Amino acid sequence: MIKLYNTKTRSKEDFAPIDEQNVRMYVCGPTVYDRAHLGNARPVVVFDTLFRLLRHIYGETHVTYVRNFTDVDDKINAKAAENGRDIRDITDETIRWYHEDMDALGTLRPSHEPRATEYIGPMVAMIADLVGKGNAYVSEGHVLFDVNSYGAYGALSGRKLEDMRAGERVEIADYKRDPMDFVLWKPSTGDQPGWESPWGYGRPGWHIECSAMALDLLGESFDIHGGGLDLTFPHHENEIAQSACAVPHGEFAKVWMHNEMLQVEGKKMSKSLGNFFTVHDLLNEGVPGEVMRFVLLSTHYRSPMDWTEKKKGEAEVTLRKWARFARGIPASQPDDDVITALSNDLNTHEAITVLHRIFAEKDAGRLRASAQLLGLMVDVNEEWLEPPEFQDIKREIVALVDPILEQLNTARSMKDYMSADQIRDRLRELGVFPNMVDQKFVWHYTLQDPARARDKDAPKEGFLGAAVNIAGWLREELKELQEALK
Ligand code: AMP
Ligand code: ZN
Repeated sequence: MIKLYNTKTRSKEDFAPIDEQNVRMYVCGPTVYDRAHLGNARPVVVFDTLFRLLRHIYGETHVTYVRNFTDVDDKINAKAAENGRDIRDITDETIRWYHEDMDALGTLRPSHEPRATEYIGPMVAMIADLVGKGNAYVSEGHVLFDVNSYGAYGALSGRKLEDMRAGERVEIADYKRDPMDFVLWKPSTGDQPGWESPWGYGRPGWHIECSAMALDLLGESFDIHGGGLDLTFPHHENEIAQSACAVPHGEFAKVWMHNEMLQVEGKKMSKSLGNFFTVHDLLNEGVPGEVMRFVLLSTHYRSPMDWTEKKKGEAEVTLRKWARFARGIPASQPDDDVITALSNDLNTHEAITVLHRIFAEKDAGRLRASAQLLGLMVDVNEEWLEPPEFQDIKREIVALVDPILEQLNTARSMKDYMSADQIRDRLRELGVFPNMVDQKFVWHYTLQDPARARDKDAPKEGFLGAAVNIAGWLREELKELQEALK
């Protein structure tokens, strides 16, 4: 039984999907004008782990996960104007980056990734419906949601309208009846993106897209809505107001989940504070995505956390140790205790503690299967298998093998099969096994200790295992072969 903390009820609840055949989750996605920072990656990794758990429990084809792209927003317009670029160019590029970076963190693509600009029609329809029902009004080319028309406004975040007016530095615009009323539609001028609507040429406000997309892709009631804690107010409060008024008989989201913030020296990592680094920056510095994922999951999602060099270093050591231990061993069954930990409001911290225990118990198949529930140990990271001290050996041996392979391929292309076979056989004797790809021999950096290479059933060794034993000897032999081929 999965238990999840529901922001709406402020309690941990048993999770009972509306339809076990189709468990439905919506997570607010990025506004696409810039690279995602590591804070932005936290909800992505957290809800990816929940997605994996739900797929494990209800079946891979019985979970629908929607995460939107906000591709109409004034920050995007500003960037386009600043750089003299096309908006679509910027949003397409940013989405490509987002996929690259989030893929590197081992996150699965959601079932649907709708772009706001593909949902203008449904948004306009929902806004018109809200105007018709008296929950929204038109004022100076804007359509505004009337927060006083929805009695439960503020229930999710536990705020009262009076306190909000006093507490928030809301923009006082004279076209608003109440300063807390929020924009559903606003007018666009010539160079701003816009669409025709019953209220003139304009564009949607931010909040309406999630209500419209969730309704279209997940229905009137669905199971889980997620996002960062900073979205609770106003974004999620506004989503609820819109959806509850547009579809009074629906429930919208049953469970609301919010991840706490990734911090830098006690402050939320954010673009506006400038205290951020991007996932891309870290990847470029050689920090593997799996390390970022491990660090993000080592703290429970409802606690604030810092990214530190120390955590990064420890994650690296652990992942390397596990990868080398489980090398070549396929996943068996995940450990019950890992499932139990994740089922307890996604306690990834506890789940990682269990992974350490499984490692100590020396069960590689169970370790891999359990880690994979957290999206770890899915791909074999060759870097993990080869500690830094072996990178130099590898570079040197690759540099020796490459020209020999080239001669082998040249001989083949000149139909000198006898020489080609001789070179290939000699390489094999040395434990270097090139494969034929597209009519050419390539080498996938798998070395075999020649003493074991004759045993066809022995597992391929990868680079490290063999290199420890044979690097010195191999170096000399390869040099000799190079000389002989001159
Ligand atoms: P944005 O593009 O700013 O709307 O953010 C996209 C997602 O990242 C939202 O779910 C935010 O709540 C989340 N987010 C932004 N900053 C942080 C942070 N420092 N830590 C955790 N989540 C964040
Ligand atoms: Zn949203």
